[in-house]
Amino acid sequence: MKVMIFEKSSKLLAKVRISGGGRCNVTHDCESISEMLKKYPRGSRFLKKAFPHFFTLDTIKWFDERGVKLKTESDGRMFPVSDNSQSIIDCLLREAGKYKVDIKMNADIIEIRRYEDDSFKLTTRDGAVHSAGKLCVACGGFPKASQFEWLSSLGHSFETPVPSLFTFNIPGNSITNLMGVTVENTSVKIAGSKLQQSGPLLITHWGMSGPAILKLSAWGARELAEKNYHFKSLVNWVPIYHENSAREFMQQFRFSAASQKVVNRNPFALPSRLWEHLIAEAGISPDVRWADLPAKEQNNLARILTSHEFEVKGKTTFKEEFVTAGGINLDEIDPQTMQSRKVKNLFFAGEIINVDGVTGGFNFQNAWTTGYLAAVNAAK
Ligand SMILES: Cc1cc2nc3c(=O)[nH]c(=O)nc-3n(C[C@H](O)[C@H](O)[C@H](O)COP(=O)(O)OP(=O)(O)OC[C@H]3O[C@@H](n4cnc5c(N)ncnc54)[C@H](O)[C@@H]3O)c2cc1C
Repeated sequence: MKVMIFEKSSKLLAKVRISGGGRCNVTHDCESISEMLKKYPRGSRFLKKAFPHFFTLDTIKWFDERGVKLKTESDGRMFPVSDNSQSIIDCLLREAGKYKVDIKMNADIIEIRRYEDDSFKLTTRDGAVHSAGKLCVACGGFPKASQFEWLSSLGHSFETPVPSLFTFNIPGNSITNLMGVTVENTSVKIAGSKLQQSGPLLITHWGMSGPAILKLSAWGARELAEKNYHFKSLVNWVPIYHENSAREFMQQFRFSAASQKVVNRNPFALPSRLWEHLIAEAGISPDVRWADLPAKEQNNLARILTSHEFEVKGKTTFKEEFVTAGGINLDEIDPQTMQSRKVKNLFFAGEIINVDGVTGGFNFQNAWTTGYLAAVNAAK
């Protein structure tokens, strides 16, 4: 069997190269399929049927057997021990070379037609025509619906693409003066919706980033697009408390720290620059001692600590990883084989299908699993 790859650009595996900040976050250290499925805002039911065929341990083994060892970081992300995505690229290209895969560069497929015998005619932008008995479409995510036309002409439908994994812009808010400050445990809600995520939050010079925000952007990809990325977010800087319990806690605390200035005595272990900022926002003067803290300001502080409102206007791409939510409808693909249910001999793999995960190696695991299944079943 002869295998050909058509790559529209002049670079192979360009996303792998830049992935994970140039280190390639290959997969996630997770041996439980049910735990893994929780990381996919779209496509978890589909992956439930696909993962048993090729899962994280298979990915680790596959690379290991080909000389690429992976290591795990404290948050579960897995990278090549070289900390260099080139190791992954070299490995994939060595493997393609071993099987004499014919790679055509600058070959942008613009049309796919079916012959009567269920084989395909492929036309590239420069007018070249190729035939294929089986075809796997693994063209990545497309940001615009119009880019799906050459696939919809085969009879497939798709969910409209919207970006996922982005950070929040909070223009004109003085919180951005605290850029670089990280709070390890926060809980962030989108006002007027059910969207809520927790985790570390990083204040940036344009707004907010970090795992809590990126997870919100993924789970809320469609809802936030509908709001045109203009919404209110509510940050709880001390998620073990809600407004009342934070107020009650401070009511007790003010006796034990009575003689100390509020600004100097932070009972919530928040970064000191953030604490000073929150105190100023609550209208508390830097000279006020805990004993003299007026009830109104204490109430303000309890509210700001547990439900700090920010007006988000726009988004910024997270440079380490981003994906497209949307793609080929999953009920049109068999998750056990990745074969189209509509077109015989047509397979799909990777981000082009309506599957996407949060950041952490989950998007590549989708690509490895579905790529493996498509390859094995197309070869049958
Ligand atoms: C900056 C960045 C960093 C990332 N880092 C990580 C990470 O560390 N871990 C992780 O899990 N995920 C990461 N991701 C997501 C991950 O890279 C993608 O989910 C994954 O690459 C999808 O693989 P794919 O093969 O489906 O598509 P792609 O990797 O996008 O490959 C598709 C290829 O098809 C080509 N193509 C498209 N249309 C045509 C056509 N008509 N004809 C011919 N060729 C065509 C494209 O040029 C491209 O080379 C990152 C994404 C980005 C943008």
